[in-house]
Amino acid sequence: NRRFLLVRRPEGAPVPEDFALVAEQIPSPPPSGIVVRNRYASLDPAQRGWMDDAPSYMPPIPLGDPVRATTVGVVHASDSPDFAPGQWVMGLNALEDYSVSIPGGFTMPIDIGLVASPSNYLSALGAVGLTAYFGLLETARPQPGETILISGAAGAVGSAVGQIGKIAGCRVVGIAGGEEKCRRLIEDYGFDAAIDYKGKDIEVLAAEIGEAAPGGANVVFENVGGTVMEAELFNLALHARVVLCGLISEYNSAEKVGIRNLWKVLTQRATIHGFLIADFADRFAEGGQKMAQWLAEGKLRMDEDVQDGLENAYDAFMRLFSGANTGKLVLKIA
Ligand code: NDP
Repeated sequence: NRRFLLVRRPEGAPVPEDFALVAEQIPSPPPSGIVVRNRYASLDPAQRGWMDDAPSYMPPIPLGDPVRATTVGVVHASDSPDFAPGQWVMGLNALEDYSVSIPGGFTMPIDIGLVASPSNYLSALGAVGLTAYFGLLETARPQPGETILISGAAGAVGSAVGQIGKIAGCRVVGIAGGEEKCRRLIEDYGFDAAIDYKGKDIEVLAAEIGEAAPGGANVVFENVGGTVMEAELFNLALHARVVLCGLISEYNSAEKVGIRNLWKVLTQRATIHGFLIADFADRFAEGGQKMAQWLAEGKLRMDEDVQDGLENAYDAFMRLFSGANTGKLVLKIA
């Protein structure tokens, strides 16, 4: 059982020495529990936060434990009446070949007959797809004709938010890093406008957003934070709703930058909503059905960036922070 352990808390950007790949015995199921053979693991920006020893919505990953991750896999051995060997499941496990799941842990059966690849349960039908769905439709509640401004727009969450925004009848403007990603926003995901943030200061970025969203943004879907968010706040429409979904530009910096133009929220009487997908856990089935329907109808496209091998976990994970990932980043374990 190869396991990708967190052995040191990263300071700033993680380095390879913060982790260790070890091999251990394949575990046996605990009383009423199961052992899952992981096939795919989700690599998420949130994992960077779980590596810090800081209070958050989840406890930090203990040093010496494998890096916590949502996985999909097959039940390898079971002492549970609810799970049979061979059954496909998804759950909150770790970057390792085999994970132990105890009763009451988050493990649920999945129907891989409904999807092109089991990894789809980590993308369109997983937390990122549902984050886009509930974060936009339930939290921001966009109205037809409104303008939605999305940062991290070419990523897994952002690209889905933009497409759902179009389904909701909105004008959709995306901010992403580089010409190629901006091309994909328009051509692959149907955004109305795309802005490359790389190498631009706040004034230039704010002006470009203003051109793409002349009346201002009614909804801001924030994945990035920092200067990108400051440029967005200069372009709030009156009574705008800002969904604070992620602040990836700050995850690797010890010093948090903060937002220096919060007064814009005041003058525009805007609302900032902190969003956490876990709050919608009891509605995952409903959101998943809708996402699956849109996928089947060809209204939604979710790209996956599948990297191969537990031994490449570090390099794969760092793609999120260099912007190398194209679509939902997934690690194929077996
Ligand atoms: P993505 O697929 O969007 O990958 C991350 C992207 O972030 C990169 O490709 C890169 O795109 C961009 N990025 C990385 N570093 C920076 C930086 N310093 N400045 C600007 N952009 C940067 O990941 P996800 O879709 O999985 O996650 C997107 C966001 O959603 C994250 O902030 C994540 O924490 C959040 N999230 C929140 C959830 C919640 O419940 N609140 C649930 C799931 C995700 P580019 O090339 O454009 O720079």
